[in-house]
Amino acid sequence: MLGLFNRLLSFLSCDIGIDLGTANTLVFVRGRGVVIREPSVVAMQQGTKKIVAVGAEAKRMLGRTPGNIIAVRPMKSGVIADFEITEAMIRYFISKAPGHKLVRPRVVMAVPSEITGVDRRAAEEAVRHAGARDVMLIEEPMAAAIGVGLPIEQPAGNLIVDIGGGTCEVALISLAGIVQAKSVRVGGDAMDECIVQYMRRVYNLLIGERMAEDIKVSIGSAYPMSKEMSMEVRGRDLVSGLPKTLRVTSEEIREALKDSVTQIVDAVRNLLAEAKPELASDLVDRGIVLSGGSALLRGLDRLIAAQTGLPVIVADDPLSGVANGTGRVLDELDFYKSHIARR
Ligand code: ADP
Ligand code: MG
Repeated sequence: MLGLFNRLLSFLSCDIGIDLGTANTLVFVRGRGVVIREPSVVAMQQGTKKIVAVGAEAKRMLGRTPGNIIAVRPMKSGVIADFEITEAMIRYFISKAPGHKLVRPRVVMAVPSEITGVDRRAAEEAVRHAGARDVMLIEEPMAAAIGVGLPIEQPAGNLIVDIGGGTCEVALISLAGIVQAKSVRVGGDAMDECIVQYMRRVYNLLIGERMAEDIKVSIGSAYPMSKEMSMEVRGRDLVSGLPKTLRVTSEEIREALKDSVTQIVDAVRNLLAEAKPELASDLVDRGIVLSGGSALLRGLDRLIAAQTGLPVIVADDPLSGVANGTGRVLDELDFYKSHIARR
């Protein structure tokens, strides 16, 4: 009877999965898939904190706002830097999710595994305020592992490395629990910052974060390529103060990215060094799975394979792994609620 009632409720509501990422927020609606994919950026009036724009529109304003408006990334380094803004952002994205809303939705939200207990409770509260009737939080690497289809409930080691904007989370999962995890505050943002520093140091050229990200996505790499590339970069000459264009090569950018890439590889190696031998040996066959947008950096899979001696694969559609994971959890909510072990 209760089961039937619950089925009716979930038919009348649209259950929602949220990937609250440091760079991008994705919203998954059950039965539809990923329906919203927007940068985790909020633009607001200074002082009053009145929200002017959220998502892509707000990202375009980053670095271009007049004095009275500020554009911020409330989750920037993998922790909730500003709670009020994060809550406003969650509320905005839930309200934009399409679907009938006769009954308040159930929400599964993936959060960085490093957030504190206080932030966890606050995040849960924020989702309730935004209208959810039931909230389940899930750690990002667990959601990623489920989303990319790893058999996490088996008694065997599964290693997932989720590299987003603000963090790299490495987790060894067995029997639906995170047995071991490492989180480093290095991801796409740190890579962009390395490129900004490199251009300044080597060429006296000041470039913005957006340009740096563009360079990384266009010609960035972690491992030598069969055909190296180059591109034109625009910025401001620090000596003359004037706009300037110059050409950089993929070899140079690989050099610029070396520090952040090394930190990611070290996080994986350190976790392997501490892993129980049974679980570590499972990885010889199962390999390592990379997810998150920064898993798309050219050659990162090859570098990690070379440095660990293990097979490495990049998940299909790594930018959607976590959101798809929340979707799968929604499908079997009762199962996951009772099975996913909280650390
Ligand atoms: P988060 O989970 O922190 O929101 P995402 O998984 O959405 O992060 O990944 C965003 C990061 O991925 C950004 O830093 C972005 O620059 C980076 N990224 C996206 N596409 C590529 C690519 N093709 N090559 C390298 N980095 C990429
Ligand atoms: Mg993510």
